[in-house]
Amino acid sequence: MCGIVGYAGPRPTVRPSDPAGGEALAVVLEGLRRLEYRGYDSAGVAVVAEADGHDGPGGGAHALHVTKRAGRLARLVEALEAEPVPDAAAAIGHTRWATHGGPTDANAHPHTSADGRLAVIHNGIIENYAALKAELLEQGVPFTSQTDTEVVAHLLGRAVAAGADLTTAMREVCRDLEGAFTLLAVHVDAPGTVVGARRNSPLVVGLGDGANYLGSDVAAFIGRTRDALELGQDQVVTITATSVEVTGFDGAPVTPRAFTVDWDAAAAEKGGYQWYMDKEIHEQPKAVADTLLGRTDASGALVLDELRMDTAVLRRTDKIIVIACGTAAYAGHVAKYAIEHWCRIPVEVELAHEFRYRDPVLTERTLVVAISQSGETMDVVMAIRHAREQGAKVLAICNTQGATIPRESDAALYTHAGPEVAVASTKAFLAQITACYLLGLYLAQLRGNMFADEVRTVLGQLHGMPDAVQTVLDRSEEVRKLAHELADSKSVLFLGRHVGFPVALEGALKLKELAYLHAEGFAAGELKHGPIALVEEGQPVFVIVPSPDSRDSLHAKVVSNAQEVRARGARTIVIAEDGDDAVLGSADLVVRVPRVPTLMAPLVTVVPLQVFAMEVASAKGLDVDQPRNLAKSVTVE
Ligand code: GLU
Repeated sequence: MCGIVGYAGPRPTVRPSDPAGGEALAVVLEGLRRLEYRGYDSAGVAVVAEADGHDGPGGGAHALHVTKRAGRLARLVEALEAEPVPDAAAAIGHTRWATHGGPTDANAHPHTSADGRLAVIHNGIIENYAALKAELLEQGVPFTSQTDTEVVAHLLGRAVAAGADLTTAMREVCRDLEGAFTLLAVHVDAPGTVVGARRNSPLVVGLGDGANYLGSDVAAFIGRTRDALELGQDQVVTITATSVEVTGFDGAPVTPRAFTVDWDAAAAEKGGYQWYMDKEIHEQPKAVADTLLGRTDASGALVLDELRMDTAVLRRTDKIIVIACGTAAYAGHVAKYAIEHWCRIPVEVELAHEFRYRDPVLTERTLVVAISQSGETMDVVMAIRHAREQGAKVLAICNTQGATIPRESDAALYTHAGPEVAVASTKAFLAQITACYLLGLYLAQLRGNMFADEVRTVLGQLHGMPDAVQTVLDRSEEVRKLAHELADSKSVLFLGRHVGFPVALEGALKLKELAYLHAEGFAAGELKHGPIALVEEGQPVFVIVPSPDSRDSLHAKVVSNAQEVRARGARTIVIAEDGDDAVLGSADLVVRVPRVPTLMAPLVTVVPLQVFAMEVASAKGLDVDQPRNLAKSVTVE
């Protein structure tokens, strides 16, 4: 879950005793700032610089400088300002999402070897750390933290002390580790070098001009280069200012896949908004439009060339299982309604962590669709591995090039939402629904469930959605005001039917994660089976009303459900399309969205709920972009 940055660049031209940090620290702090969404329990850096007192720039003795602090990155920056580290040719940096040991200074990364000559940072969990630690303790190695990571620092330090170079030491140690890890290490005997390794956790290499970079994702170095290399499973990489060498844990040389990042540093900045989340909410029309870009041929037929999956596989598919977690699972839930309707293929939606452990029925005719914004969600990684072992084909829907999930899948369909930094997902959700719809239409076209003109009609509807989403954004003032009024609520409920049901679940999730409020989403029909007992005087209830054009009965039933809760004292906030006056009698407030086709409705109805959650959190003085206890990319199981 954490963010990792590594830098190897030219030897500094200033004397080591000159203040402070220089390019190495600038690169690492800039990377950490961009990666802080991945974890913010603590932050730390290590540099290997020429030892003070050494006579001018050049070769000679080196020293390791480690600075780390519990809490946000800002605390680390303060510490570095108070006590600068010297400029260096190699540096590593880490923001932590604690798994083993509390968020303290001592548990912050980097961790150092007992001889103080090596520093290591780690993303993931070393599953056999307890056994390794017991052995080391028995041998008298002193531990200073409760983390699983510290064993790696000692093991690596010992291997180098025994004569191995840092790269060889890394290979040897990694072979003995179990679990998930990205590791970066620096050592005083290897100045100007950073060695990295990965298993089940992400690591990419950035190729610069006279400097090279490592990062948990490309955001770590996007301000410096857009040329990158993907590292495979069980690989070790050694970077210096002018070289990048990759081998397997067994030492065999590897040629990694190169790619160019298709967005730039400006896309990862706040662009004048107070929160990344606000910016990302406003980028939703573009996220939908970009995800639709280039998907049709000259005749207007849908083409998904990038899938590179044998069409025979898609033709014979008799069941789809969507696996995802959190917001992505709700995108899958929305897609189920559309894909079943268009393709007549049964679609199950399952949380990846449940799927993995329940022995699901999979055959070679099952298509597993794995949805993950980051492409690194560990629960999903494990689930797709399991699915492929059982012979199912896996198609990834992902927002991040070069990530583990698309790499380990049979095919990938990329959303083009651009970098999503706020922990609470917004534009990725809309882009995921869009991509799922493209997949559904493609299957329907391929299997003959829909005529070409029908596919074109729905594609046309999808192309109309960016404008519709923009209209909702232009009208969001009322919801912002409402959020300030309701900021002190104890609980908020959300009701929806059909595609409005997952939207209700998403509305509740947003409010929980951002505003720390009790919030629940229900299928509106389920209410009378229990949850209606929760309704008391003044209870805010959002009701997502489908279009009267959907199905007469569906619309009427949801309006009745709104009336039922209002009759019991609820304050109803009804989300309804322009011109739907049937809702007026059952609403304390009507939030209007433009009229769109039934299956497109989630792309507009979710937007006021996102804005509402963000504004409630803001009104409560909370950190919208980095809610407590969370991290953006959940790379542990
Ligand atoms: N397991 C390590 C720890 O708790 C690394 C966590 C992370 O990925 O940030 O320190």
